[in-house]
Amino acid sequence: MCCLAALLLTTGCQTATSLKKKSKKAAAVNTEPPHGENWNEAGSVSLPTSVGTRNSYSSVNVSLPFIALTFDDGPHPVNTPRLLDILKERNVKATFYVVATNAKAHPEIMRRIIAEGHEIGNHTVTHGDLTKMSNDQVRKELRDSHTAIVSTTGVAPRTMRPPYGAITSSQKSWIRNEFGYPAILWSVDPEDWKRPGSSVVASRLVSGAKPGGILLVHDIHAPTIDAMPSAIDQLLAKGLQFVTVTQLIAMENKG
Ligand SMILES: [Zn+2]
Repeated sequence: MCCLAALLLTTGCQTATSLKKKSKKAAAVNTEPPHGENWNEAGSVSLPTSVGTRNSYSSVNVSLPFIALTFDDGPHPVNTPRLLDILKERNVKATFYVVATNAKAHPEIMRRIIAEGHEIGNHTVTHGDLTKMSNDQVRKELRDSHTAIVSTTGVAPRTMRPPYGAITSSQKSWIRNEFGYPAILWSVDPEDWKRPGSSVVASRLVSGAKPGGILLVHDIHAPTIDAMPSAIDQLLAKGLQFVTVTQLIAMENKG
């Protein structure tokens, strides 16, 4: 029994040592975190790299007819997979601002989102109003959400969306410096959460969308998913093409 304990202890130690070596090796090939202390507990998992030049975007100045479709507050166990089927049929890529509690509850949907070429952004853990929180509270919201996204998908989020669009200019600035995230707002909001009906949601999206636009809807509402086939098909018919938020920002006209 004593030997077994010793063996277990040794095995445990060896595992810990080899893990330590592994993480040292990974740290050696990894670049320095962009902004000071390494807050990312995942360690060797990719850290956010700089996206665009501004602290926030509600649309992007682009020369070509690209737009970003964004879905907030999921993943939802029924509506998000249904939405993913609709997007897949049309080869449309979108961005999902997930709430970390939902991300942890549905890791398989998180992995499907990434596997099908979409992007995931940070939308906090508790979905509170950031303007009413201390910097440390906001920091914790973003760190914990970042970690939940990395641990479920292996991919680090590169942008954040403040719940309700509520964020101060000072918060935008330090979040950008510390996390590398620009705050992503929107240019078209059909207010789908007020449940105006699928056809109204679709027509508001279609009439509001312009090149460089960022469209906001929520994949937790079934009528929003019902609106998507018609909305997407009409937007495509207008000549608009869908890209993820970071792809749209990468097309930004500078100067
Ligand atoms: Zn939200």
